[in-house]
Amino acid sequence: MGGGEGLQKESVVKEATSFALWYHPLYTAGLHPDARFPRDRYELLLARLEASKARTHMDIRTPDPIDKELLLLAHDRDYVERFLTDNLGEKEQKRIGLTPWTPAMISRTLCLMGGALEATEHAVQSRGFSGNMAGGTHHAHRDFGSGYCVFNDLAVSALHAIKNLGVKRVAILDLDVHQGDGTATILAHEKQICTISVHCSTNFPFRKSVSDHDLAIPAQSEDEGYLETVGQALETCMAFEPDLVLFQAGVDALKADALGKLNVSREGMRRRNQLVFDAVHQQNLPLVIFMGGGYAKPIDASLDAFFDLFTDAAMWPHYETPRGNS
Ligand SMILES: [Zn+2]
Repeated sequence: MGGGEGLQKESVVKEATSFALWYHPLYTAGLHPDARFPRDRYELLLARLEASKARTHMDIRTPDPIDKELLLLAHDRDYVERFLTDNLGEKEQKRIGLTPWTPAMISRTLCLMGGALEATEHAVQSRGFSGNMAGGTHHAHRDFGSGYCVFNDLAVSALHAIKNLGVKRVAILDLDVHQGDGTATILAHEKQICTISVHCSTNFPFRKSVSDHDLAIPAQSEDEGYLETVGQALETCMAFEPDLVLFQAGVDALKADALGKLNVSREGMRRRNQLVFDAVHQQNLPLVIFMGGGYAKPIDASLDAFFDLFTDAAMWPHYETPRGNS
């Protein structure tokens, strides 16, 4: 998958009207059944998307594992090697939090990262929307993982786009309720990449990093305050004049989320995504959707919001409900 050699022009042209979405069974099966992380959300969401009216507008693809050299764009070699040979210490595993640890997590992580890169390559080539049905692993730092994140798919994809795909400027728009601390730190000195994080001020990570733009929202905020801040983030994003937008689309700002501390409704979340799609579409920019967090208990409210996210992206700009004013 290095250097874009895996991109076949014919298939890009033929499928330009479909929303390409990467998925692998390991997204669920690569996590231990007893892990606290809601691993079932991936296969449950796939089943719902498969049964949806939007399915004919989706091209669901299977990623290859990432070439491990590409991980080094954003990560320390020693950390990468130790993870891939199952030699992380217990403390390091605990900090990642996807415990109990299972060796299947190595293949899962490589496929998840591969899905992010393939989605990025596809978006750049087709100048459209694409997505990975996992990831948005924004808490992963250069030499350690944290908060359910092993490697940082946003940072690796952004650097891959700049170094290998001819992209000049990348904006990372992180609307997950948690701050994109790993992304901010890894990319702190990258002038061609703009990091923007909208997050709850009193949520994890409690020691925040410094993004290019941090827009913190008070706990318990509802749709109006949330969407106003998202609007500001989008203005900042477009003022950077990116050639590519990477969207961390976590839905954990939902009121039903167990970890979010915000009170955004399903409709507010949907409106958020539509604001992003609108702004990106108006500028004719490629967009990659990274799934991000969603921890409602039971998981249904998160699944509803992820379902809206991917079906609206697939139907864009012809999705079904009337649009309000932006
Ligand atoms: Zn989150």
